[in-house]
Amino acid sequence: MKRWNLALVLVLAIVVLAACAAPQKNTASPEKTGNDKLQVITTYSILYDIVKNVGGDRVEIHSLAPIGSNPHEYDPLPVDVKKTTDADAVFYNGLNLEAGNSWFPNLMRTAGKSGKDAPVFCLSVGVAAKHLTTKGKESEEDPHAWLDVRNGIKYVENARDALIKIDPAHKETYEKNAKTYIEKLNTLHENAVKQLKMIPKEQRVLVTSEGAFKYFSEAYDFQAGYIWEINSENQGTPDQVSAIVDLIRAQKIPALFLETSIDPRSMEMVSRETGVPIVGKVFTDSLGKPGEDGDTYIQMMEWNIKTIYEGLMKKK
Ligand SMILES: [Zn+2]
Repeated sequence: MKRWNLALVLVLAIVVLAACAAPQKNTASPEKTGNDKLQVITTYSILYDIVKNVGGDRVEIHSLAPIGSNPHEYDPLPVDVKKTTDADAVFYNGLNLEAGNSWFPNLMRTAGKSGKDAPVFCLSVGVAAKHLTTKGKESEEDPHAWLDVRNGIKYVENARDALIKIDPAHKETYEKNAKTYIEKLNTLHENAVKQLKMIPKEQRVLVTSEGAFKYFSEAYDFQAGYIWEINSENQGTPDQVSAIVDLIRAQKIPALFLETSIDPRSMEMVSRETGVPIVGKVFTDSLGKPGEDGDTYIQMMEWNIKTIYEGLMKKK
């Protein structure tokens, strides 16, 4: 009888050990060996792609706000808290992006990443910030710096320097990856300037739901109109709709654009009221889904440039 009990205990012990050991294979081990990947968090998909290009095989990234969603506001899930707590580094945009309902600072606090020396890196450092223009909001920064590819290059440099800081043993890899990627982004920027310049100046007006194109407009010489200025404020109020309808009529704007990460109803209302068509989707705050249009930073920018060019070159 005693012997049988002992056998049962042993069997149970093995089962319990196996159950504990199995899931650990996929989680970050606190004591890293030379070959372990860095566990990295990014706040949304565009940063995911930028950090992935610099980190390559060295990084395993968990991105917070899902593809197609609005990173201005996000409710982290338990899995996000767990992965952020375990992460070697966190990358965020800053410039007032992850500011809605304080989700990001709250998450950093909960995950124990809020101290002065926490490995939390703002990728927009060094970008010349633009500010909101809505009355009473002039002191708030506009976050959409990445829509100017030259700023995207700054993000790459910041990601490179941050990865070198936390993982100096692989400095050369990060430098090499960043250099290759920056060359592609320089080509992307030059092509954007060339192609968008072919649109007659008076037709270079970009109307979207959110005013996400301030940095883009300066870089590529556009005028930008919008229904609301930033996603974390009231969206599509009757006053906002009638203001953009007036602008579209006054300037005889021929085309409207709709962001992929936005509820389409306000822009559809503007289109119905003015008779001006929505000529295409543009990517602002999110990449496309993997395998679909705009699924990398370069692809989303190329998509936007092509869509804006074709939409505004159409005969009125
Ligand atoms: Zn936005």
